[in-house]
Amino acid sequence: MIPGPIECEANVLEAMGAPTPGHTAPDFITSFANCLSMMKQVWQCPSGQPFIIAGTGTLAMEMAAANLIERGDKALVISTGYFGARYARILECHGAEVTMLEADPGQTIDNEMVEKTLKSEKYKVMTFTHVDTSTAVRTDAQALGQLGSKYGALTILDGVCSVAGENIAQEDWGIDVVLTASQKAIGVPPGLALMVVSEKAMQTWEKRKTPATGYYTDWANWLPIMKAYESNQPAYFGTPATNLIKALEKGLENIINEGMQQRFKRHEILGKAFRAAMIALGLTIIPSSETLSANTLSAPYLPDGVQFADFMAAMGHTKVAIAGGLLQSIKTRYFRVGHMGSTGMDEIRLCVEGISFALNECGLKVDAEAAWEAAMEHLKEVESDS
Ligand SMILES: *Cc1c(COP(=O)(O)O)cnc(C)c1O
Repeated sequence: MIPGPIECEANVLEAMGAPTPGHTAPDFITSFANCLSMMKQVWQCPSGQPFIIAGTGTLAMEMAAANLIERGDKALVISTGYFGARYARILECHGAEVTMLEADPGQTIDNEMVEKTLKSEKYKVMTFTHVDTSTAVRTDAQALGQLGSKYGALTILDGVCSVAGENIAQEDWGIDVVLTASQKAIGVPPGLALMVVSEKAMQTWEKRKTPATGYYTDWANWLPIMKAYESNQPAYFGTPATNLIKALEKGLENIINEGMQQRFKRHEILGKAFRAAMIALGLTIIPSSETLSANTLSAPYLPDGVQFADFMAAMGHTKVAIAGGLLQSIKTRYFRVGHMGSTGMDEIRLCVEGISFALNECGLKVDAEAAWEAAMEHLKEVESDS
C-alpha cells in the first residue's frame, strides 16, 4: 500500500505479460487508439489532445514545461510539498522565471494569496499539484484552474497522484494540462507518462517564437504520432512501450467500467475510513482539515516516542508494505499509505491491523479493534453499494 507503484488488477498484468506486440500490428494500433480515446473520457476533456509517452510522471511534467515555456517566461508554482518544488526546478531548466508560493506542511495556499500574486504580474504558466504525495494534501483544483485562467495563465495540474482517484473535470474546470503516470491511481505498472492538453495550450505551443527546448519532449515530434494512432494508423518517432500500452488499455477500461463517479466515491470512502482508523489509534494526519485530505493516500505522523526506524522494522513483520516520509523537513516523523486503484476494505483492514501491531511493538498500547470499528463506520457505505 505504498502510494505508487500500486498493485495492478489481473487483467492489466495479463495484458502486460502477453507476447510483445509490434507497434505496427493492427491489434496494437486499435489498442493505442482506444487508450487515447479513453483518456479523454477519464480526464473528462473531450476536446483535449492526449499524449502517451514512454517515461515517468516527471517526464510528463517536463514535457508540459518544455513545450509551453520560452526563455524568460514567468511561471507561478503553487507548491504543497515535494512535487511542487520539483516543478519549479523543471521550469527553471527550461528557462522560466519562477515564482513559488510554498505552503507549510499540511496546508495549502489561500486562494486570495494566489489571486493577489496572479494580479501582481503576468504569468504565462501556473502549475499546481492536485494531491501532493509527500503530504497527502489535496488542493482545490477547480478553484485554482479558474483563477489561473481568469488572469490569462496556462494552468498545468500535476495529477500524478489523483487522476482516476479524484474527480477532475479538465474541460469544465478550464485546466490546460492534466498530467499523470501509469503507476498511481490509473493502476498500471510504471513506465508511461500521460497527459491531456487543451486546445488553448496547443495553440500557444504552435505560436512559439523559439523552438522547444528538448528533442524527446518536443510535441512537434509526438503530435503526428498521436494523431496517426487516433485515426488507426501506425506511425513512428520513438518506439512506443507496446506492452504497457496494452496494459493501459485494460487499466482505463477497468476505470470506465467501474464508473468514474463510483470510483471517486469509493476512493473518498476508503480515504475517510483509513483516516478515521488512524485518528482512533491516536495519530495526527498531516493535512490540516478533512477538506484538504486526499482520497488517494494518507500521511499520518508517528506518535511521540515512536522512532521511525523501529516502526518501519515492525511493519516489516506484517504483510503490509507502506512508505516512509518524503518531505525533507519532516521525513522521519511520518509515514504514507496509498489507498488507490483496486484497494478495498480487505486491504484497509490488513493495513490498520498491521499499523496497530507495529505501534504496539514500539511500546504503545493501541486498540486495533477500535480502529477498525472507526473505519467500518465509513466502509459500511462501500459494503452496501456493492
Ligand atoms: C509520483 C509523483 C510524481 C512523479 O512521478 P514519477 O512517475 O515518479 O516520475 C510527480 N508528482 C506527483 C504528485 C507524484 O505523486
